[in-house]
Amino acid sequence: MTHATLAENFIAAGDRSAWHDRALWFVREKRDRQADDVPEWEQLREAASAIKQHTMSRLPDYLQEFELNAKRLGVKVHWAVDGEEHNRIVHSILQQHDVRRVVKSKSMLTEECHLNPFLEERGLVVVDTDLGERIVQLREEPPSHIVLPAIHIRKEEVGDCFHEHLGTEEGASDPKYLTEAARQHLRQQFLEADAGITGVNFAVAETGGFVVCTNEGNADLGVSLPKLHIACMGLEKLVPRAADLGVFLRLLARSATGQPITTYSSHFHGPRPGAELHVVIVDNGRNKILQSPEFRRSLNCIRCGACMNTCPVFRRSGGHSYESTVPGPIGSILAPIREPDQHKTLPFACTLCGSCTDVCPVKIDLHHELYAMRNHLDQQQKLEGSKKLSMRMTAGIFQRPALYRTAGRVARLALRWLPRFLVYSPLNMWGRQRELPEAPSKSFRELYDERHRKN
Ligand code: SF4
Repeated sequence: MTHATLAENFIAAGDRSAWHDRALWFVREKRDRQADDVPEWEQLREAASAIKQHTMSRLPDYLQEFELNAKRLGVKVHWAVDGEEHNRIVHSILQQHDVRRVVKSKSMLTEECHLNPFLEERGLVVVDTDLGERIVQLREEPPSHIVLPAIHIRKEEVGDCFHEHLGTEEGASDPKYLTEAARQHLRQQFLEADAGITGVNFAVAETGGFVVCTNEGNADLGVSLPKLHIACMGLEKLVPRAADLGVFLRLLARSATGQPITTYSSHFHGPRPGAELHVVIVDNGRNKILQSPEFRRSLNCIRCGACMNTCPVFRRSGGHSYESTVPGPIGSILAPIREPDQHKTLPFACTLCGSCTDVCPVKIDLHHELYAMRNHLDQQQKLEGSKKLSMRMTAGIFQRPALYRTAGRVARLALRWLPRFLVYSPLNMWGRQRELPEAPSKSFRELYDERHRKN
């Protein structure tokens, strides 16, 4: 299904779209307050962008340095060319240790590789331990946001889900009560687990260590009890020096949730005594992106989710409408590079307003990349005839001011004189979901001239 169709379904589902919009805008405002409180915010963004660009320009060297130093610390390092190889490596490590139950902290990479179904099909029990992730796992749906995976779900729906799966009281929706129930449930999972899987937020080439950030401490609990820890990282997660971490840790939490720092930023430097630590480094199309001068900068993403929280399309259409592990503006670049046929509509789910670029902590030029992706898909002959025709017609109108003005007049007259049932017709997609304003009695030109005369 196209993004437009899925977005339409989301918008049609009562007031969910408006409520989702408000919830994410609340996070965006928190982010703004935190950014305003840091006088050197823009310098931090510049530094983060420069560090990432430098790292990407020497990625093979830094990866080798990381591997060497990680091995020196006693870490077993594996390389996976794609998601399937990643899953096979993780499974074989688990098999070697006779693992039956796994606890997993939030990792978009394992979502991208579809690790959970792969392991479950082979008889393992995999429990996501991040609260939002656990909720969507129990509901058997994918996360809708990379930082707030259950942001599309109301607390009443969480109450129903927990009543069914965790035995909480029917109709209970008090967040404190539900969180406590999840806490008790997850404690048991941690105690019973044979292995812990985490993602990696940042890996440091000069030390061979890595950092995992969570707000719930679930990564720490998940890898502290079992004797086996597997960390899965995309090859773009590297920073050259430990000193670089300060730049990214200051930016990440502020951009993601409007907190000054993530509650737990856990540093791992080798396995603890008597335990085993594996790191699986995954390409899965990243090298292809690195080769592309136009889209290379999208690899700098630190997965903060800020571009989603600010995007007017994402806020109104919900993360599931993107049908991609990473949705929103950054997902609309990453997904079509990998699978253009499946995700070719995503770069058009964008107003090119540039708000994503303004908030991105690593200064990815998101709206320009989205525009470039549209052209790229056109050159690849991936666009449908109707899309190309409508774009050509719109371009023709925009290039001719007289025609643009006439089209505006015709639209205004149509809005004023056409019967309302035709304007709001369910046969036309534009009118179907819209509460159109009353047609203005004057043209924009007349209103503009009037205001000008007054001033
Ligand atoms: S593209 Fe930028 S704003 Fe969006 S998730 Fe990545 S780092 Fe955050």
